[in-house]
Amino acid sequence: MPIYEFRCAQCGNIQEVIVSSSKASDDIEMKCDACEGEVLERLLSAASYSMGASKSGPQPSVSTKSCGENTCGTLNIPGPTR
Ligand SMILES: [Zn+2]
Repeated sequence: MPIYEFRCAQCGNIQEVIVSSSKASDDIEMKCDACEGEVLERLLSAASYSMGASKSGPQPSVSTKSCGENTCGTLNIPGPTR
């Protein structure tokens, strides 16, 4: 199943959501884990974890990264990397 990243428009929190193949990603209703904001922007960078994030230099799976004018906190990746 595809994994999408969503960034909260209010606080910049990034969370990953595993999307059921039976749903279109645009139909997902979800809230920010941090502030419960409902305005979430879907990011298209999920594939970079396996493809290698070459566009902005090497990045570990878990790191801080720049999100526009904000700096996001720890990006938690559930799985064997922890
Ligand atoms: Zn938020």
